[in-house]
Formats: sequence, C-alpha cells, structure tokens
Amino acid sequence: MVPASPAPQQALSTLSDDERLFRASVAEFADREIRPLVRAMDDQAAIDRRLIDGLFALGLMAIEIPEAFGGAEASFFHAVLAVEAVSEVDPAVGVLVDVQNTLVINALRRWATPAQLSACLPRLARDTIGAYALSEAGSGSDAFALTTRAVRRGDAFVLTGRKLWITNASEAGLFLIFATIDPAAGYKGITAFLVDRLTPGLTVGRKEDKLGIRASSTCELILEDCAVPAHQVLGEPGRGYKIAIDTLNEGRIGIGAQMVGLAQGALDHAVRYVKERRQFGRPVADFQGVQFQLARAATEIQAARLLVYNAARLRDAGLPFLADAAMCKLLASEVAERTASLAVNLYGGYGFVKDYPVEKFYRDAKIGQIYEGTSNLQLQTIAKHVLA
Ligand SMILES: Cc1cc2nc3c(=O)[nH]c(=O)nc-3n(C[C@H](O)[C@H](O)[C@H](O)COP(=O)(O)OP(=O)(O)OC[C@H]3O[C@@H](n4cnc5c(N)ncnc54)[C@H](O)[C@@H]3O)c2cc1C
Repeated sequence: MVPASPAPQQALSTLSDDERLFRASVAEFADREIRPLVRAMDDQAAIDRRLIDGLFALGLMAIEIPEAFGGAEASFFHAVLAVEAVSEVDPAVGVLVDVQNTLVINALRRWATPAQLSACLPRLARDTIGAYALSEAGSGSDAFALTTRAVRRGDAFVLTGRKLWITNASEAGLFLIFATIDPAAGYKGITAFLVDRLTPGLTVGRKEDKLGIRASSTCELILEDCAVPAHQVLGEPGRGYKIAIDTLNEGRIGIGAQMVGLAQGALDHAVRYVKERRQFGRPVADFQGVQFQLARAATEIQAARLLVYNAARLRDAGLPFLADAAMCKLLASEVAERTASLAVNLYGGYGFVKDYPVEKFYRDAKIGQIYEGTSNLQLQTIAKHVLA
C-alpha cells in the first residue's frame, strides 16, 4: 500500500484564513483611520487620542491577552502582522502597538502571578497603555549596568533613579520598570516592578524631540522615593534580567515587523509615483534603471519579511529563535533604511519635502538600527550563534 503523502508544507508567507482576515482588517483600519492623521501627528509629535481609542476598540492593544481578560487571545504572529500592517502607514503608531504587545503584555503573560494578571490585563485590554523602562543615561547596550535602586522598606520596595528613552511614557498608565535591589550582585540584582503611573514618586519627565517616529512619545522617567508594594514585583526579586532578556528577544521580532512594514509602505508610494511621474516624455517607471532598483527593493523586503515571519512562527511553536530574531531585526532595519532612501530618490525633489510621505519614512527608518539592541548588538548575538 502506498503511504498517504504527508500534508504539503505551507510556505512561510502563507497566512491562515484567520491571519489573512486579521491582517486585512488592520490594513483597512490603518488606511482609513491612521493615514489621514500621519502628517499632523508627526508635526505635533503626538498620537491622536481618538486613534488610540480606535486601536483599543479593534483589539490591537491586547492581541495575546486571553479573552477572559478582554483580549483577542491571538498569537504572537498576529501581533507581528498587526505591527507590520500599521507600520506600512505609520511606523510611529507601529511602535506603540509593538511595545504594548511584544514587550509589556508578553512579560506579564509569562511572569505575572494570577493576581497581577487579574489586576493588569483587563486594564491593558480596555484603555491602558504600557511602557517598558529598562534603559538609563549610562546603560543602553550594557543594559544591566543600570543604577536605579530598589530598597526594601517593610512591604514595599522604594525606587530611586532615572530612566531614559521610554517609549509610550507620555500616554502610559502602567510601567514595567527595571531596578537593582543589590548593585553588588550585578545582573542578579535586577528586579522588574509593575508600577502604576499615579504612584507617588513617579514622574514622567522631558519628552525627546526626535529625528523620526516623532508621534511616538519617548520620555525620561524620574523615580524619587517611589514606594512600590512588594506584591508588584514581576517574577521574583533578582530575576529581572531574565525577564528583560526574554522579552527583548521577542520584542526584536516586532521591530523587524515594524521595519518590514515601513519598507513596504515606502516602496508602495515609490511605485505609484514613478508610474505617474513623466520625464523624457514617458513615465519614470518605463526606465529599466528605475525598474531594477524597485525589483531589488521588493526582493530585499520579501527576504526580510520571511525572516520576521519565520522568527515569529518559531516563537509561537516554542522553538529556539534567538539568532533568527536578531537576524530579522538586523536585516529588516537595513532594508527599511535602503528602501526609504530609494523612495526619496525616486520622488526626486518632491521626496525631500514634507508635502509628500516618503521623507518621513526615511527619518523613521533610522530608529530600527538603534532600539531594542543596536545593529552591533544583533551582530554580536548572531556571531555567538555562528561560532558556537
Ligand atoms: C526612540 C527611542 C525609543 C526607545 N525606547 C525605549 C524603551 O521603550 N525602553 C527602554 O528601556 N529603552 C528604550 N530606548 C533605548 C534604546 O534601547 C537604547 O538607545 C539602545 O539600546 C542603545 O543604547 P544607547 O543609546 O545607550 O547606546 P550605547 O549602548 O551607548 O551605544 C553606542 C554605540 O556603541 C555601540 N556599542 C555598544 N556596545 C558595543 C559592543 N559591545 N560592541 C560593539 N558595539 C557596541 C552601539 O552599537 C552604538 O553604535 C529607546 C531609544 C530610542 C532612541
């Protein structure tokens, strides 16, 4: 008897019906609700509150939160699809969705106690934005050199220090803050705390005036005798380094998705433009030199997308994905920069002015090589894997 042939392997880029419908609904929302606001939000360096409400209403701020807590109970891959689709229109909104889902909610789902889950997840699903506060002025790539102190006092830990570069800080209601309970213990002193915005002693400080993703808030966080009840430690005291490593490894895939979306958004604009723009009596798209540039960009985007999708699917399958996540962020951020630069070039002089959308993609692309681990740090992770 001939054995039944195995089910054909699906292509990495093949989406299930559910994934396809989800992605289409996010893309439709982004086109209808985000696109008209992109220019104004970039100029004003702020995300429209009504838009944030819309993101919550569509379930995009609670993608992996279980339905019992008011979330969509979907997969990490869905979160990646959402970040990609939103970032095609506005990468600044993309990172808002990304930090909420791939860092804050992810950390809670893995490490929170049942009481913490009940206290935080319904809020995050309903209307509360989360922020992830690890970096400080003196500790970026060397994140565990952080100096924010947490000192035990009775039933609380008292936090003192300053955090820098905290995405979503202007809007956030809940902060995941990393501090050390024992500087002498090195990384083994790092502890993660769930801190409500209204906690006395917590102040959101200066908002950065940025090159790109300007609508996304990036602020300093000042902690002065900020007493956080001990039951708001996430995981165990001294295990914060593990929470940071695990969440950032996954968050990196989200940034890869943000950069793939950005690159696709820039390419789509460029393609439309070169079909319309006429020089030498023909559309610019007729020139083979231009066609080949577009073909190369499309190829690079697809390669980056496949790396992102593969890393996300590995993560959902519970398989190792550390090097894959680093590779996808490294490549996607470089492709985003190259594609956005090409789009500016193909718009000619119009690419250099704010009346057209591509200069913003060019500015927005740069951050992909910096946050959630610079490109050098991704190369370090990949090199360790190669040399192992
Ligand atoms: C817009 C924005 C949003 C951010 N959002 C957040 C957030 O929400 N939460 C948060 O905690 N942080 C956030 N960050 C901080 C971000 O993660 C850090 O900026 C990043 O990790 C780099 O750290 P750094 O800026 O201190 O640079 P540094 O670590 O000082 O690096 C400077 C340069 O040295 C290189 N370098 C450093 N070490 C090595 C090495 N060992 N080998 C080779 N090269 C090396 C780096 O690649 C880089 O080119 C954000 C930053 C920005 C700009």
